[in-house]
Amino acid sequence: MTSSEPIYTLDDLDTWSFPGTALAVLGHPIKHSISPPMHNAALARMAERNSKFKTWKYFRFDITPEDLPAALKEFHARGFKGLNLTVPHKIIAFGLPEVAVSPAANLIGAVNTLDWTKSGWNGHNTDGYGLTTGVGETPLRRDLQNSHIILLGAGGAARGAAVECLSKPCASLWIANRTTSNLDALIIQMKPLAKEIPLHGFDPARPPANLPSNALVINATSAGLKSDDPFPIDLALLPRPKGIYDMIYNPPETRLLAQARALGIPAANGLSMLVHQGVRSLEIWSGASVPVDVMRTAVHSAIRSSA
Ligand code: NDP
Repeated sequence: MTSSEPIYTLDDLDTWSFPGTALAVLGHPIKHSISPPMHNAALARMAERNSKFKTWKYFRFDITPEDLPAALKEFHARGFKGLNLTVPHKIIAFGLPEVAVSPAANLIGAVNTLDWTKSGWNGHNTDGYGLTTGVGETPLRRDLQNSHIILLGAGGAARGAAVECLSKPCASLWIANRTTSNLDALIIQMKPLAKEIPLHGFDPARPPANLPSNALVINATSAGLKSDDPFPIDLALLPRPKGIYDMIYNPPETRLLAQARALGIPAANGLSMLVHQGVRSLEIWSGASVPVDVMRTAVHSAIRSSA
């Protein structure tokens, strides 16, 4: 997926001359990102209520992981008001001295939102808020609190989702991942947060017999981004779930979502999460209320025009 917004690189910062308040998303690759049209649509609406937002603009930059430390210094020196970080920068930035991590992001071990301060960047993670709010507004209408959750994946997004589920708290958390060592590492990290909440790991190829029925399945793997990717799990092997939420939003229907539909299980893609993590980021940067509907319309339109 592409959007019509230009893609900048670190070299462009040398001659950067935008006179207004700049925001940006950094990733590698970045051409799939629809955050610029989403945020710029919101800023245009916010400018109708407060003229200061007329000079705000959101850009996208392709920054390699090797360049990230230097880039963060440069974006700070150039006075960028805020940055979003996407794959693969969320965990890398967490460990950098330029970033002061909020307590909530510290639990997750990843940051997706940086806010400019005189002394450096304040790092936040808005993915958990995006997940909770996003799931709640889909036709699934599910609350993570008191739900049995089957979480697929053990990467950055899964880590954020696990923290969010356990913090609610969920009724139980079952995490499945292809690579056992990554699964084990995540389970060990989450144990202190789980306290009394049942927390289990399992091999997605061999789901255990005692999985709860009526669970909410959340796909936080990247299996499904490409049409020939394998299923992250075979839903037919699970006791009937009450819903499937796939964090992937492009393609809008992954093979997992298609299987859910075929089995008659309510399902939704990750577009609502994208919107709400973006809403919270823009609230942090602007301190103003953010037009959620405008952002939702913008991402739907960006997805349609990319099809
Ligand atoms: P990471 O690279 O950190 O983690 C990837 C995860 O996917 C790992 O658990 C990995 O398993 C698993 N995986 C990758 N390929 C396969 C495969 N072929 N079969 C089974 N499992 C596989 O990525 P993130 O955690 O940052 O992102 C994961 C997904 O979530 C992405 O698709 C991303 O776009 C989406 N996302 C959506 C958001 C939204 O707003 N909707 C926000 C954040 C993320 P292993 O350990 O075995 O390698």
